Amino acid sequence: MSRVTLLTAQLLRRGRLLLSPPAIGASFASQAQSKPASGQASGKGKQCWKCKAILPVHALICTNGKCGAVVPLSDHVNYFDVLVGTPTFDIDVQDVRKRFLRAQQQTHPDNFSVLGEMDRRMAETQSSWLNRAYNTLKNPYERAKYMLELQGIYISEEESIQEPEFLEQVFEINEALDDAVDKKAVKAIKVDNDERIKHVSSQLSEAFEQSDLMEARILTIKLRYWDNVKDIVDNWAPTPVVNNPHTG
Ligand SMILES: [Zn+2]
Repeated sequence: MSRVTLLTAQLLRRGRLLLSPPAIGASFASQAQSKPASGQASGKGKQCWKCKAILPVHALICTNGKCGAVVPLSDHVNYFDVLVGTPTFDIDVQDVRKRFLRAQQQTHPDNFSVLGEMDRRMAETQSSWLNRAYNTLKNPYERAKYMLELQGIYISEEESIQEPEFLEQVFEINEALDDAVDKKAVKAIKVDNDERIKHVSSQLSEAFEQSDLMEARILTIKLRYWDNVKDIVDNWAPTPVVNNPHTG
């Protein structure tokens, strides 16, 4: 087995190094293809299911009189439409968080508990949509992957980078993670990894800026490796010492 194949197998065994959280963006994937450019639907309206008023397509709640019903978001609305404005890799995460919290507050299921079952169900659906939106946009890897999906470009979890130098680097970090015995060692890996994420993010920003989607695709796959390293270091805990009666 070549070193690269070995590495891929090792990463697959590790599981989390190649697998991203399930379902993030997945529900949107089928919609994105039929809707390559965001904002297309912004001129159209939608009807409130309760009072039948025509509302802006991005509306989260009905603003007609005292109706106030939570209205579902159409399939043509993407995460950027609601939490950012236009699709861009360079988002202000703090600003997106503020918008997310505001929207979440507006449509919180508890606000509708005294209303009907339909209101509560709508509020729950929208609440989970907003959670998915925020979790996707705040993470640079998920955000880049989502931006590509909006353009009809999908990355499978099995796709890897075919650059020996890059894979060598991943291999070394993987080994360092396996060898790490204390928080200090993990912290050092984290500091370096955060730098790599920053670096790839700035490259991605440029690629998206120049509409170089092929380059953005490769960079997004690279970022997945560092995102998974981040996941591991953020959740790292020392391996408990097991007393072995045969050696102890
Ligand atoms: Zn209404």
